[in-house]
Amino acid sequence: MMTESNIASFDYLIEQFHRLPGIGSKTALRLAYHMISIPQEEALKLADAIAQARQKLHYCRICCNLTDKELCYICTDDKRNAEVICVVEDISDVMALERTGKFNGRYHVLHGVLSPMKGVLPDMLRIKELLARLQDKTVKEIILATNATVEGEATAMYLSKLIKPLGVRVTRLAYGVPVGGDLEYTDEVTLSFAIEGRREL
Ligand SMILES: [Zn+2]
Repeated sequence: MMTESNIASFDYLIEQFHRLPGIGSKTALRLAYHMISIPQEEALKLADAIAQARQKLHYCRICCNLTDKELCYICTDDKRNAEVICVVEDISDVMALERTGKFNGRYHVLHGVLSPMKGVLPDMLRIKELLARLQDKTVKEIILATNATVEGEATAMYLSKLIKPLGVRVTRLAYGVPVGGDLEYTDEVTLSFAIEGRREL
């Protein structure tokens, strides 16, 4: 890439921005320039926010959702139904479903979907952790809420085959979510219908 300012610390900053998803070399240069144009304390605030998030945030021991404690706020909420687990791809899907206010169960975040083409295999997702949650027979239903993409569907089918023999009801988000659509970008009303109209797998 083009980072020939020949000023090592400036080139280093550009390079770090360029490594972020969706940031091209022009944008990386613009962001780097912005960082040295604003007051120093403003720039340090950003550095501090990144450092703090990295130090404090990790995944919930039970559901793999993001938390700054051992367990996330959903897993520790006694008012939430522990018999239903909604399985999602990413943390952003938890946020999207929570915004609907229609789901009162717990979640499980896979952190991705199966994709043999991209080298994502079952042991790279949080599937072991999900199966461990089914051991004590508390969970009666698993809602597979992976995205309506080819990979999301394949992951749902894979999980269904693993979970059904354990005697747990397995459902899938039904109508509403457009084929090829990401939950994250599905509006709240559509997502509400999808979770209420889930179908048996
Ligand atoms: Zn949790």
